[in-house]
Amino acid sequence: MADKQGRLTQEEVLSRVNIVSLISEFVPLKKQGANYVGLCPFHADRNPSLFVSESKGIFKCFACGVGGNAIRFIELSEKLSYVDALYNLADRAGIKYTRGIERDEQTTRLRNDIRSLNKETAKFYFEQLKTSRKAQEYLKTRGITADTATKFGLGYSPDSWDALYKYFKSGGVQDDLLIKAGLVSKTDKGNLIDRFRDRLMFPIFDDIGNVIAFGGRTMDKDAKTAKYINSQETPIYIKGQHLYGLNIAKKSVSDKVIIVEGYMDCIALHQKGIDFAVAALGTALTEKQGRLLKRYFEKREIIVAFDNDSAGAQATVRGMEILKNIGLSVKVFRLTGAKDADEFLKTHTKDDFLEQLSHSYSLFEYKCILAAEENPADTNEHKIDFINKVKSLFAQLPDTDKLVYKKWVTEKFGKQYGFGEDTVAGSQSLNQGKADREEPSNGIIQRRIYISDDEKDDSGLSEADKKKDFNEKRLLICFAENPGVYKTLKNKDIRGLFTFEENRLIFDIVSEGCESGEIKGFSSLPSFGAAADNRLAEAQFKYDIKPSDAKASVSEMLQKLYNAAKDAELDRIQKEIDNPSTPKERKIELVKKFAALKKKQKK
Ligand SMILES: [Zn+2]
Repeated sequence: MADKQGRLTQEEVLSRVNIVSLISEFVPLKKQGANYVGLCPFHADRNPSLFVSESKGIFKCFACGVGGNAIRFIELSEKLSYVDALYNLADRAGIKYTRGIERDEQTTRLRNDIRSLNKETAKFYFEQLKTSRKAQEYLKTRGITADTATKFGLGYSPDSWDALYKYFKSGGVQDDLLIKAGLVSKTDKGNLIDRFRDRLMFPIFDDIGNVIAFGGRTMDKDAKTAKYINSQETPIYIKGQHLYGLNIAKKSVSDKVIIVEGYMDCIALHQKGIDFAVAALGTALTEKQGRLLKRYFEKREIIVAFDNDSAGAQATVRGMEILKNIGLSVKVFRLTGAKDADEFLKTHTKDDFLEQLSHSYSLFEYKCILAAEENPADTNEHKIDFINKVKSLFAQLPDTDKLVYKKWVTEKFGKQYGFGEDTVAGSQSLNQGKADREEPSNGIIQRRIYISDDEKDDSGLSEADKKKDFNEKRLLICFAENPGVYKTLKNKDIRGLFTFEENRLIFDIVSEGCESGEIKGFSSLPSFGAAADNRLAEAQFKYDIKPSDAKASVSEMLQKLYNAAKDAELDRIQKEIDNPSTPKERKIELVKKFAALKKKQKK
């Protein structure tokens, strides 16, 4: 929540916003390694230059140079001030706040009033359903029994502009309260009209059975209005904080919970006796919902069963990660033979469904399946991309899972994509190193991916030099992320450790920026030209350096660079010793020097 006075804090807002979902609302993003890339919306971008790091919550365009956090993104794209961007983001994230100070009692009273108004409204709609032939016919065609309708408190909002409004008006309820509860709205002419008209009504209950909001579904096939409309947010209803059906599912004795997208799926499952279903009411599972699940179902297996389209798939992965992070055991369910559970259950039994449900996938399995769908085994490029993806997913697995999944992924995809168990567990990416070059049986052509697929790597560096360059850039990023660390080191000759001219030049600029305070984090770095920027980005996005771990990283990098410098020196000495034309006295001197250096290195 916001601070004690209900005011927003930047930390709060940023912690609740997923920068990948946010930017995805503006431009399509594609996962690349640990990050996402897309076309920059702030300049005429032809190659994807916009990099987004989900874990760091930052974006950076390596062509036009803009970058920063989610607030900055909204400032730029919506052309808002900082403060307004903050409010805009808070609204998107469903964070409750007040712009001024609101007294607690007032809020409590309002919340109670809205609750009882909602309860009364649910009763009103429920009564209307009993006398509406249209609504009853509709329920019949959807296969919803009277018992189920009662269990979920389904209702009907009459085909009238103000039936509900008049009902409350006659009972003396204030207009203002009805508006705040989101049950009526004001027209341009100033008339008050019902928000829900001629719809099948789904009361939304919280976990303890209060009616907190409504969803209304049109029953006309060719209706020109939205299929579903929902309550606006009110002091008791915030999107993404509740789970539909939880008030019922919490009583289930099953060892599972299944999360579906919408009301109808949830209701259809319950009607078939699958009493452990809840609906997320939207595709993006939130942390709040995760905590709610944890409160009631900590020991159970949580199965996410969203629609199979690509938006659903992305939302599923993110949702599962959220649930996993808060310590829940999560699986994903992909229904086959129907587009959703509601449709499936019309032609199948409960046991058919449970049979399929028992074959749910783990997050790793699901990500592999998605990767295969994204990269069908039709071209070598797709095959390489798929195998690399699987390798990187595999590398992130805990060791205890590796054995099982190595077998699983090889059995499921190995033949089609031409790889074996050893490939999966190999540490190198297929486009790097020698080991993987020798896989001619796969027909895989050696291909180098650098930052973006269509950008050739023209650095002409050897693999070893690239590694060195990478380490040097990593050190530069550490300084940018935590200028304080740089300041503690500045008397040492760090500049001399950089072996590449490019990195020495970047170092000059970074060190100056650290001194002047102009550099505050990676996203505040100026542009050093596309090639250097891209390699910096690659290093940053690969290591995900945070200010807090910059210090440790700096020591590690410095050690590496010192060692590399010493290795180079040792190499040079060795060569001179081996050279037949080196005089004997000089050789003795060199051997001593070599031994001394070697001894120093061991320490
Ligand atoms: Zn740009």
